[in-house]
Amino acid sequence: MSYEWKFNKRPYSDEEAKTLLKDVISPETSDWHYNTHHKGYVTFLNNIEKELESADRSKANGNYSQIGELKRRLTWNHGGTVLHDIYWEVLGGDGDINKGPEIKAAIEKEFGSFENWKADFKAAAFSAKLSGWGVLVYDMLYSGRLLNVLVDEHHYGAIWGGIPLIPCDVFEHAYYHKDGPGRAKYIDNFLNNLNWGRINDRFVKFVK
Ligand code: FE
Repeated sequence: MSYEWKFNKRPYSDEEAKTLLKDVISPETSDWHYNTHHKGYVTFLNNIEKELESADRSKANGNYSQIGELKRRLTWNHGGTVLHDIYWEVLGGDGDINKGPEIKAAIEKEFGSFENWKADFKAAAFSAKLSGWGVLVYDMLYSGRLLNVLVDEHHYGAIWGGIPLIPCDVFEHAYYHKDGPGRAKYIDNFLNNLNWGRINDRFVKFVK
């Protein structure tokens, strides 16, 4: 049965985003990235859900088939939909981790210090391909720990059972309009703009 995916609202208006996120992304990017890229993933995900209802399963094969491509692109657009949703959710703050006491304690327990976590997160995000993400996840299936994973595109490198808590989009569309090739600078600005109150809410809701 198909599922209808929503293009969720951000915790701030499009107008507020231009100011709130100005140190991380250009005002134009705050609009394009949400209203074009993010929305596009949701639209295609819903189109794929519908097309899957009637796709011919008997034509499946390992080279090309409609069903194969639909399933392949479902994962891609699902990743784009979910990660962008959380990307906007965790941005728009002042970067003060003290506003997220539970997640702060969990990060310090796992990584030794907030600084250690940041260095590892930044390295993961910086090392992703030109289209990728660095993501702090909670490994709920086995280790029960926090982990920074490097994800190429939206899904290569993701781990099964990993609940995304902080996803940093390092596709060039995310930062090039403001920082050009300065991905490291963009990641620093991303970290300084995190809303730890909302991240803490997310951590408490899905992890604790
Ligand atoms: Fe993106």
